Amino acid sequence: MDVLQHAPALTPADASQLALRLFGVKADASPLPSERDQNFALLTPSADRFVLKIANSTDALPLLEAQNAALAHVSRTSTLCPRVIPTVNGEAIATVDTSSGAHHFVRLFTWLPGVPLGTVANQPPALLDALGAAVAELDTALEDFDHPAIHREFYWDLARGVSLCRELAPSIADERMRALVGGLLDRIEVQDAPRFARLRRAAVHNDPNDYNVLVDLRPAAELPPEGGSYTSPNHVASGFSRKITGILDFGDIVHSYAIADLAIAAAYAVLGKPDPLAAAVSVVRGYQRQRTLEDDEIAALFGLILLRLCTSVCVAARQQRQRPDDEYLSVSQGPIAETLPALAALDPAAVESAFRLARGRTPEETLAARRRVIGPNVSIAYRRPVKIVRGWMQYLYDESGRQYLDAYNNVPHVGHSHPRVVRAATEQMLVLNTNTRYLHDKLAMFAERLTATLPPQLRVCYFVNSGSEANELALRLARAHTHRREVIVLDAAYHGNTTTLVDISPYKFNGPGGEGAPPWVHVLPLPDTYRGKYKRDDPRAGEKYAEFARYVTNPSAFIAESAPSVAGQIILPDRYLASVYAIVRAAGGVCIADEVQTAYGRMGTHFYAFEAQRVVPDIVVLGKPIGNGYPIGAVVTTREIAASFDNGMEFFSTFGGSTVACAVGLAVLDVVEEERLQDHAREVGAILVDRLRDLIGDHPLVGDIRGSGLFLGVELVKDRATLEPATAEASEVSNRMRERGILLGTDGPFHNVIKIRPPMPFTAEDAEHLARTLADVL
Ligand code: PMP
Repeated sequence: MDVLQHAPALTPADASQLALRLFGVKADASPLPSERDQNFALLTPSADRFVLKIANSTDALPLLEAQNAALAHVSRTSTLCPRVIPTVNGEAIATVDTSSGAHHFVRLFTWLPGVPLGTVANQPPALLDALGAAVAELDTALEDFDHPAIHREFYWDLARGVSLCRELAPSIADERMRALVGGLLDRIEVQDAPRFARLRRAAVHNDPNDYNVLVDLRPAAELPPEGGSYTSPNHVASGFSRKITGILDFGDIVHSYAIADLAIAAAYAVLGKPDPLAAAVSVVRGYQRQRTLEDDEIAALFGLILLRLCTSVCVAARQQRQRPDDEYLSVSQGPIAETLPALAALDPAAVESAFRLARGRTPEETLAARRRVIGPNVSIAYRRPVKIVRGWMQYLYDESGRQYLDAYNNVPHVGHSHPRVVRAATEQMLVLNTNTRYLHDKLAMFAERLTATLPPQLRVCYFVNSGSEANELALRLARAHTHRREVIVLDAAYHGNTTTLVDISPYKFNGPGGEGAPPWVHVLPLPDTYRGKYKRDDPRAGEKYAEFARYVTNPSAFIAESAPSVAGQIILPDRYLASVYAIVRAAGGVCIADEVQTAYGRMGTHFYAFEAQRVVPDIVVLGKPIGNGYPIGAVVTTREIAASFDNGMEFFSTFGGSTVACAVGLAVLDVVEEERLQDHAREVGAILVDRLRDLIGDHPLVGDIRGSGLFLGVELVKDRATLEPATAEASEVSNRMRERGILLGTDGPFHNVIKIRPPMPFTAEDAEHLARTLADVL
């Protein structure tokens, strides 16, 4: 049966007359769009508004009674839905007979303000979040509603969706769409149908599509006082109200899966969006703030969203066969054809986890909570902070499911959440996690594997929990070995957050809040051949910079990053470290290489940055990448220095070298080797440097491109002759890159160097994408 043949066909004048006769409302009537019923907007002379609804003649009275009962039920706790206004005789439903002999039921409803969501071109995450919250409010209001007429066989019921689609899919005219829907149905039947069977059921509206949802788009200033706070889920304080004011049309009400409304609202909300997953996550987040989803529901949600869109395609295909000329029938088909393939290509497991994570606070709430309980100088990146809820390899994902290319974090060296590392940690944690006071094979195994990557002089390991702790220990080793205190450092260096390390970090003691260098700390000029005294065209720049070390006559230690990162992604000039090391050793000091940022193949050409300088340090300090995010620090030194440190005082770090740390450390080394990440960094880094160098011609801001492997810097200057640092511009670039989904940072003494040091799985395509985006932003 084609219900559209049974749609009423009244004129606006007929509607006006009906309103007056049945409801005593004197008003002008104008038609509202509808598929199977006829709806009229009524406007009275006193500017009151109503909606007159004349039902399809196939609509049975019990179902209309059920709709009215549902509306009355909802109105007890929510103002989202219209209320029924009885006739002058007190009937909720009147009857009219048309001249063609058809029998129609007529109802009058209160008017809800707003425009259909489907007509709002700009649908930011906050609006979709509000949609989710409104649907949750409706579902909560319907929770304890029931009526015999809603237990019905209905082709839009998702609980029947699979069999309906199976029946209708062959009639889809477009071959590619037919194949897509067929494939999705196969997947849904195998993977999702068993989950559907476990879902709780309830009365649902069953059609909160974007034309049944109303939005108030007034400027926030015109809103009632409650509109404009983040605490109210239907509002945001962002200039314009994003209030969802109504959910209309209970014509599809049915007893079905309790999450059907969420699935349906999300199914339409994602259409035509550049990032459909992010749109769906916004809806799901808003929903979950109001109403808790069960585990099975989250697991089934994506399948139901796909099933609703498949149902829409199938039903439209059938109707198009029946009425090939009716354009109204296909309004949503264009957007579905556009978006369904993108949804089908998503990994269902990733979608499920994005939905699961979408229960948290909004970024604004997170920020406010953090400000209340975390120290104020624990800094946050970017003008508009990013809230990250998930990581995978070189990508990070925010609470809306948006993907960011991580071009900044060198801690997750082998990739965020690398499964090998996660498995190693989990499996070890399930069995044992204890300290170095007991024998365990993994401690020695990790130390053996680690020292095997280093020159043969460096064979003794100490494990700690951070780069700072490792540098502290390195200083203690140096002092124990030399019985001296003086330390030589490079300008603009950072070595860690402890009292002593702030004392040897010019980046800190010469920066805001710093108190200058203590008397036992000696600062050498940064051997920066772009900005410093000796430039790249000077073949002896390395030796010349090294000469400054001669001024310190009784050093305990020289400590430097083998490629200074915090100081601005500096590549040291040839022979620099060899010359300084020679001077320091001749003066009785030891040489510490801080490889916290640069180790494990990042430089592409070598496993450690000091190797590129052809030196062997006396102490190597390791941190960040060696635990891939699990806190591991390590100090590796010579037998002689270790012997000096063994002066009777025990060394113990509670968590350092714990069983889990060693399991993780071994897994990271396995991955670095098996995935040939050093070679990969060399290859991809070369491509990235090439693309970045192309920027120099077109963008006067770009002063210098430098680096090695996946350790790169882009120095921005206002003037290539004076090298005046473009500090504000660098910050602007990094903020705009963040808006475009690429995470970078700035560093260097003037904060004008854009730092690129991504997780090592970063690909050539990522490099091209980064360079293209950077060119755009510049
Ligand atoms: N050394 C260097 C070169 C670093 O960059 C850092 C951290 N940025 C540290 C040491 C200190 O490491 P952590 O923060 O793990 O203590």
